[in-house]
Amino acid sequence: MRSQFSLLQQSQQSALYHNSLALPRHEYRVVALMRALGALSRGELAQHLGYSRATITGLAKTLIDGGILQEIAGTQSTGGRRPRLLDFNPQFAYVVGVDMGATSVDVGLADFRGDLLLRHQEPIDVRDGPEPVLDRVIAITQDLIGRCGVEPARVLSMGIGVPGPVDFVNGVLSVPPIMPGWERYPIRQKIQQTFPHMTVVVDNDVNMMALGELRAGVGRGVDNFIYVKVGTGIGAGIVVGGEIYRGSTGSAGDIGHIQADRNGPVCHCGNIGCIEAMASGSALARQAMQAAQSGRSPILAQYLASGVQQLTAEHVGSAAHAGDKVAMELIMTSGTLIGEVLAGVVNFFNPSLILIGGGVANIGTQFLATIRRGVLSRSLPLSTQHLRIDYSPMGEDAGVTGAVALALEYLFVIKS
Ligand SMILES: [Zn+2]
Repeated sequence: MRSQFSLLQQSQQSALYHNSLALPRHEYRVVALMRALGALSRGELAQHLGYSRATITGLAKTLIDGGILQEIAGTQSTGGRRPRLLDFNPQFAYVVGVDMGATSVDVGLADFRGDLLLRHQEPIDVRDGPEPVLDRVIAITQDLIGRCGVEPARVLSMGIGVPGPVDFVNGVLSVPPIMPGWERYPIRQKIQQTFPHMTVVVDNDVNMMALGELRAGVGRGVDNFIYVKVGTGIGAGIVVGGEIYRGSTGSAGDIGHIQADRNGPVCHCGNIGCIEAMASGSALARQAMQAAQSGRSPILAQYLASGVQQLTAEHVGSAAHAGDKVAMELIMTSGTLIGEVLAGVVNFFNPSLILIGGGVANIGTQFLATIRRGVLSRSLPLSTQHLRIDYSPMGEDAGVTGAVALALEYLFVIKS
């Protein structure tokens, strides 16, 4: 076998890059640009990076000799000639993406291009604590590696998305409301006990979804956008200048606790009228129960009478679809509140795209239309001139796709 690692050495930098492979600066820039834009010709690389053709030719040769890139035939023909493109060599390395929710975990094994080879999803309960849950993640990973027949030593990186606030550099959760036993638990070290050669990167779930859309979805090539997850809670992943923006301590985008109504209900965070307490999936579920029990909504009452234990946001969606007035009002109120909070975000941040994902994104188009109206009615015309607001097309796949992208993102570090 070629000595593919000859140009690389182990990184000595911060814990985040523990085990990352060091690349010289110019080679690193080529790899980072191709992560953002996909396969490119040498001419395109030269143009984007401001290097001469001769420099690009040299860099490409080093990266091809190192096994990182390969040459492929382009699909578009210009004047009958198909341009040669540079793409990632899928077999250079393999990575693992882990999307952990409160009640389930989704693990994917992908090649170096980011294409999923195999994926496994199963129920878990994060309240069981880090040890048993991460033991399952490790066992699933070993199983996927075995079933794919991939050499374990070539699985170089793991990205893990968790449903709580993350201290990104240290890879630990910080005061996670729904994961109490996980407070500052050393996730990275736990994984590295079994996979000592792996880079392990931990991030919160919504940053992960934003990264999924940025690297492999409709966010590709979009410099400034936000991904809003409306599920049990409400949070946002922020992309600035083509990168995830995490803020100074990793809590950027935690929009769920912006006040929507000073006379609103008490939120689990202790404050009054947070958007999360008024418009999230759990808020909709609670309002649906009240509407059913008080007899205001005949269709929701019918669902409850048919043996459903707990109404959910999806029930509100189907009741609205069946013409239930109260369910429609609940959706309109929730969408309007979210739209108004997002209008503030839009005026402040001026994104060109807002993607809505999470469980509540499944309740129908009315919800999206109301959010759009809420944003447009409260934002400045200049900030909405080129603004698109859509459901995340990747939907439930955004998490695992983003986790794979995160694993690939930190596989390399600039050689110092
Ligand atoms: Zn709150």
